[in-house]
Amino acid sequence: MSLPAVKLLAKEAVASNTMSFRFEKPTGFEYTAGQFADYTLLNPPETDAEGDIRGFSFSSAPFEPFLQATTRLRDTAFKHVLRDAAIGTEVLLDAPWGSFTLHHKVERPAVFLTGGIGITPARSIVLQSVHDVTGHSITVFDSNHTPQEAAFLDELTRVAAENDRITYVPTMSGLGDSRHQWAGETGHIDAAMLSRYVDDLAAPIYYVCGPGAMVKAMRGVLDAAGVDSDDIRTEEFTGY
Ligand SMILES: Cc1cc2nc3c(=O)[nH]c(=O)nc-3n(C[C@H](O)[C@H](O)[C@H](O)COP(=O)(O)OP(=O)(O)OC[C@H]3O[C@@H](n4cnc5c(N)ncnc54)[C@H](O)[C@@H]3O)c2cc1C
Repeated sequence: MSLPAVKLLAKEAVASNTMSFRFEKPTGFEYTAGQFADYTLLNPPETDAEGDIRGFSFSSAPFEPFLQATTRLRDTAFKHVLRDAAIGTEVLLDAPWGSFTLHHKVERPAVFLTGGIGITPARSIVLQSVHDVTGHSITVFDSNHTPQEAAFLDELTRVAAENDRITYVPTMSGLGDSRHQWAGETGHIDAAMLSRYVDDLAAPIYYVCGPGAMVKAMRGVLDAAGVDSDDIRTEEFTGY
């Protein structure tokens, strides 16, 4: 569905070089947690060969009264324009798209394997599941180089502490000498890490989300662990 222009309501830094952008939610607009939108900049002051359209998963949950995209701010024209956009700036929204959404059978746990900004649809799905009391058991493995780069780290830690059904496992792969400042998991997500938190690796539906290389690596981990490919869903963030 193509929608009218939506206004930027707020911008918030949520990790190093990472910002959330809140937009007004048009009356009657509905989406399912895990879906994404294409955003088109209108008359941007700067543009480049990649153009003025990007797809971003909704990091907002459908029950929230706004639409939110969260992205790494890189040195591209699109990101410059978005970063510097004044509150009230309008963008065109084409949405909702995608089927990276939570399965219906609540007996089957959900396990998310996310890398970097790939956490965005997981935030939406976890918050909506808690809000709707769907009954799903959800474990989120979230890989970043450092805690400073982990968007929604504090929020997901709090949500997991408040909800028995939610387990949040942030892991840091690039701490080097500063390892002493982090008490949680370190290193990439691998079969050994999965087994520490998931009793029966054949039970869950797996949701893998992040840059292409990360999605490929995680598929390798799940394949090697003997997970049925029918139980793996992926969302690849192209452009990273
Ligand atoms: C379904 C879906 C959902 C998505 N959801 C999100 C989301 O929630 N959040 C999000 O941030 N992104 C998301 N993406 C990716 C998003 O659409 C953009 O592709 C991404 O943000 C990169 O945009 P850009 O303007 O930074 O780079 P682009 O201008 O699109 O980059 C184009 C090319 O330049 C390279 N490049 C650009 N900058 C750098 C750099 N600094 N270092 C190295 N190479 C570089 C890229 O590798 C790429 O090949 C999603 C993509 C899809 C398909």
